[in-house]
Amino acid sequence: MPFVLPNLPYAYSALEPHIDAKTMEIHHDKHHGTYVAKLNAAVESEPSLAGKSLEALLRDASALPEKVRQAVINHGGGHLNHSLFWTLLSPAGGGAPSGAFATAIKAGFGGFDSFKESFSQAAAALFGSGWVWLAKDGEGRLSIVPTPNQETPLSRGLRPLLGIDLWEHAYYLKYQNRRPEYVDAFWKLVDWKRVAELAEGAPLA
Ligand code: MN
Repeated sequence: MPFVLPNLPYAYSALEPHIDAKTMEIHHDKHHGTYVAKLNAAVESEPSLAGKSLEALLRDASALPEKVRQAVINHGGGHLNHSLFWTLLSPAGGGAPSGAFATAIKAGFGGFDSFKESFSQAAAALFGSGWVWLAKDGEGRLSIVPTPNQETPLSRGLRPLLGIDLWEHAYYLKYQNRRPEYVDAFWKLVDWKRVAELAEGAPLA
C-alpha cells in the first residue's frame, strides 16, 4: 500500500466542544480512510504512477493517465486535504496569528479581522461540498480560494496554508444545516503556529 492513513495528532475528543468526538472518529477513520484506500487502488492500477509523491501527482493532475485521473484528483486530493486539515487544528488553537505571518495577513487583507470575515463569507457561500483555503502563490501573495469536492490548490499552482472542510460530513452531526456555527467553531481551533510554519515552507503532511 503506497499511501497510509496518518494517525490523528490528538484524541477524537480533543477538539470538543467545537468539533465532537463522533464526528472526528467517522471523519478520520471512515472518510479519510476511504480516500486512502481508493487512492491506493487507483495508483496500483497504473504502474506509471508507482513511487510518485502525492504532491507530485496532484500538482500535475492534468498530465495523469485518463483512466485514473479523476480518482487521483478525488481520493488523492481527499487524502492530502485531510492529512493537512488535522494538523491545522489544535485543542490549544484559536486567537490570531503573530509575527511575520500576521504582517503578511495585514499586507494581503488589511488585517486579521477583514481576512477572517472574507474567509468566513467564502465558507458560507461555497455551494455543495468543498473547501475554502488560504493559499500562497509563487510570489508569496496570499489569497482566499474555494475549491469544489476534494480539489487542492496545489493543482492550481498554489500552496495551501489553511483550509476548512465544508463537506457536511465535517459538521453535520453537531451542527446540521448551521454551517456558519461550524465556521465560528473552526476559528477557535486554528493552530496559527502551524499555519505560519506552512507559509515558511514546512511540509504539508
Ligand atoms: Mn472531510
